Amino acid sequence: MKDAKLVVKSESHRNTIVHLSDHVAIGGQKIVIIGGPCTVESLTQMETVAQHLQFAPVQALRGGVYKPRTSPYAFQGMGLEGLEILAEVRKRYEMPIVTEVMAISQIEEIAACADMLQIGSRNMQNFDLLKAIGQANKPVLLKRGLASTIEEFVMAAEYIMSYGNPNVVLCERGIRSFDPYTRNVLDLGAVVALKQITHLPVIVDPSHAAGKRELIADLSRGAIACGADGLIIECHPEPDKSVSDARQALTLDDMVNLVRSVKPVAEAIGRQVYEIQRPQLAIA
Ligand code: PEP
Ligand code: MN
Repeated sequence: MKDAKLVVKSESHRNTIVHLSDHVAIGGQKIVIIGGPCTVESLTQMETVAQHLQFAPVQALRGGVYKPRTSPYAFQGMGLEGLEILAEVRKRYEMPIVTEVMAISQIEEIAACADMLQIGSRNMQNFDLLKAIGQANKPVLLKRGLASTIEEFVMAAEYIMSYGNPNVVLCERGIRSFDPYTRNVLDLGAVVALKQITHLPVIVDPSHAAGKRELIADLSRGAIACGADGLIIECHPEPDKSVSDARQALTLDDMVNLVRSVKPVAEAIGRQVYEIQRPQLAIA
């Protein structure tokens, strides 16, 4: 792995555990599941998602407010207004928030209301952004570039760590290949390799890998069987109305079923899932 020093596993180094809150940690015995829409669209949307997913249970919410879109004419995200929605949902449901940072100028405002800063696939080798996020005092979710080698991915994490941030979680989200049937190819080999090479937690995003909702539950179970420390999955109260990535969005009920179906796979390999912790927030 080139000259990687900080991310590589050594006999003296224990596996890194990244804490999202007092209750949620990625990289320990328990599998962490992050769920939510591709894009934050409204407070009602995010509240509906949080209400359902807290009982799945899902441990953290996702939702982009700055969106990397292929077309400059596509919706670019709600920006600051979206961040206010995330802050509100975070407070009301006491669930950690994961959201994407696209630019250095956004780090401060996002770090003020999110628990984990996502570096998207398109920015995995934005070295100035990696250096800046390395100086942020927040856990980072680093997604694999859409055509990046495992070595490039590992070195991107090395950038963040070498600038002072040890709380990095790697995310395999599929790599581009020749077959348009799936959006990308989920590289479960990379998950196994990254767990061997690095001491960092590794999670899988089957949504952006598959691009089709009917493939996601099976890929999720496969990822856990391969040793992934968690999953990040897109879902929406009305998937077909999702402003972005509608085709891969699960319904909230599908999400609940998926989370339950992961449990026996986790247990089969000696791991656990989180149990529901806060019944006082039950919907009346
Ligand atoms: C996302 O998580 O919504 C996203 C844009 O993912 P990626 O960077 O993996 O394409
Ligand atoms: Mn998306």
